[in-house]
Amino acid sequence: MTRRSSQTPGPVRVRVPGKINLHLSVGDLRADGYHDLVTVFHAVDLVDELTISPAERHTVSTEGASAAVPTGGKNLAGAAARLLAKRTKAGGPVAIQISKQIPVAGGMAGGSADAAGALLGCAALWGLELTRDQLSEIAAELGSDVPFALAGGTAVGTGRGERLSPVLARTPLHWVLALADGGLSTPAVFAELDRLRSHADPPRVAGVQDMLTALSSGDPAQVGAALGNDLQAAAISLQPGLRRTLRAGLAAGALGGVVSGSGPTVALLCADPAAAAEVAAELAGSGTCRSVRVASGPAPGARVIG
Ligand code: ATP
Repeated sequence: MTRRSSQTPGPVRVRVPGKINLHLSVGDLRADGYHDLVTVFHAVDLVDELTISPAERHTVSTEGASAAVPTGGKNLAGAAARLLAKRTKAGGPVAIQISKQIPVAGGMAGGSADAAGALLGCAALWGLELTRDQLSEIAAELGSDVPFALAGGTAVGTGRGERLSPVLARTPLHWVLALADGGLSTPAVFAELDRLRSHADPPRVAGVQDMLTALSSGDPAQVGAALGNDLQAAAISLQPGLRRTLRAGLAAGALGGVVSGSGPTVALLCADPAAAAEVAAELAGSGTCRSVRVASGPAPGARVIG
């Protein structure tokens, strides 16, 4: 039974981070169509903001999106509000406005972030006293990246990515994110990896321990050297220009670079904020990506900001 505290008349504003995968190893295709993953999620301060208000009917609107985002029940934020109402038998229709900075279909789990934000925001709006664990269980029903968007920080994800254990990695990491023209569909990238593996097994990333050791050292150069993603070869196979983006970032002075998740966003790790500003300026002029953003992590997970 869900306990209620006082209901907020609304609107409720929530901020949610995008993520980079510092490490992503992908197992072989399972009989049920999924792949086992071992990943290190890292939340960065490239964020979406949601404003959630009581309304006559459920609506979702978006501004600032880098590509078309569904507005109806197919929007993950709207789906999250409906699922929370169903699971808790509480709440009513809401209008969700999303101000997006996280690139759409960019491999930074923007849709999952919006779902996490909608869960937290609706719980606050409806005065539900749910623990983070209870919210996280509902989040996992919506998608494997949604629990991490609630939690934030840096965490190892296993299973399909939804089983999380936090990693104590307090040293700030400074990133340049290279945003690409257009997006990549996550299922298409996994299918491309299966296809590549059926022809000639591309090299697989090392075990997760290298990244965990690098994070605990607090040395960004070690973290840069340990970045790795099994989906990178597949993303590059579908968008060969990403190889040029990675090369341009490294030539500009980044300590390491990796395609984030299923791409096409490329994350370049820099030594400090000044180095990130320099790499960003050089990369912006290289003509190898649509735009660049500077970001840092670990960022907090979804939180109510007003
Ligand atoms: P993944 O989480 O699978 O790595 P991604 O980060 O590459 O995905 P998202 O921005 O989450 O990509 O979007 C994937 C697709 O989800 C989009 O093409 C879009 O149609 C759909 N979608 C649904 N809701 C949202 C939302 N709130 N924001 C962005 N995309 C959404």
